[in-house]
Amino acid sequence: MKSFFGKYHKKTILPVICLVCIGCLSACGSRTVEYRSADTAMGTVLQVSLYVTADPQEDGKELTEEVRTQIIDLERQELSRRVPDSVIGRINGLAAQEQSGNEAARAEDGSIEMQIPQALYQELLLVQEVSKASNGALDITLGKVAKLWNLDTAAVQPQMFQLPAKAALQEALACSGFEKITLIDGKLQMMPGILLDLGAVGKGIACDRLLAWLETKEQISGAVIALGGSILTYGEKPDGKEWKVGIVDPSDTSSYLGTLSLEGRWCVATSGDYERYVEAEGIRYHHILDPETGYPAQSGLKSVTIFGHSGCLCDALSTACFVLGAEEGLKLAEQYGVYAVMAAEDGTLFLSKGAEAYFTAD
Ligand code: ADP
Ligand code: MG
Repeated sequence: MKSFFGKYHKKTILPVICLVCIGCLSACGSRTVEYRSADTAMGTVLQVSLYVTADPQEDGKELTEEVRTQIIDLERQELSRRVPDSVIGRINGLAAQEQSGNEAARAEDGSIEMQIPQALYQELLLVQEVSKASNGALDITLGKVAKLWNLDTAAVQPQMFQLPAKAALQEALACSGFEKITLIDGKLQMMPGILLDLGAVGKGIACDRLLAWLETKEQISGAVIALGGSILTYGEKPDGKEWKVGIVDPSDTSSYLGTLSLEGRWCVATSGDYERYVEAEGIRYHHILDPETGYPAQSGLKSVTIFGHSGCLCDALSTACFVLGAEEGLKLAEQYGVYAVMAAEDGTLFLSKGAEAYFTAD
């Protein structure tokens, strides 16, 4: 993101910093104070900027901390596959038959079933819909494949990288398939052996939950929250100007392809081959996987930015479109009424219909 926090590289290992900057601004005669913080959450950098109008001295710092707490709680309690007692961790545990409990019922076909929180249920319905609409390009059942690539770790410790064996990838792929999950009556049913991985949509879901939280805070008149490649804008800037969100150039991550100018509430999600990757023998192995092959997607794209009004939808589509490539990806984005900016390997920039009204190339 630019304008608010300057350039930032995901690959930079930041110490866990918690810095809160305060700036005073004046809007419509009332005093507005900007509170900023930078920290880490969901394995990435979290940058928060809140414009607070009431009791700012007492409230602002706590509010920025509350943003981080909300994300951490969401990850621990619901989304993380690495936390055994999160909702996803428990379902995965049951599917691996490592656990058994009253909360799960085993159907005749052997599938497991678990009641899940209402908000997560709705979000997963949307995710499954995108999986279907993208012919499985988005697939949250790829956990075993993602685990074999181990790119979260290898991207920061390349010596840990091992090219997965083809047979192992085939075996992991056999345990995946979005159609092996069913959502019904508030419950998630899935076949044993599946490992769910919500990495493609977790940050978008976090943006939606934060948006709902922001709406309950009358004293917050505007906000920009950047969680790795997912950015949420909300409300107004005291100077009445638009929010500016920079789109990183995937071929040179120290510069930008251009800037989005957005008013009010938006979610911007980017999937890029530069976010988490390892290079071995001249090949870049990145973290966005093609569910058909089990290998990093090679669709000719280097990055996809989707912006719209639902974080979960934009994040789901950014991954799906990256896998599909420019032509099908643009169609899918337009079908969902969101906007897309896609950068291809040869430097071509693709914009979906209407995106040019928001995007200015650098
Ligand atoms: P980021 O997490 O960097 O924002 P994405 O939103 O594109 O990037 O999500 C990539 C993550 O999602 C991977 O790290 C992996 O955990 C998971 N993943 C990879 N490929 C797929 C896919 N085709 N469908 C669903 N999830 C995927
Ligand atoms: Mg995504």
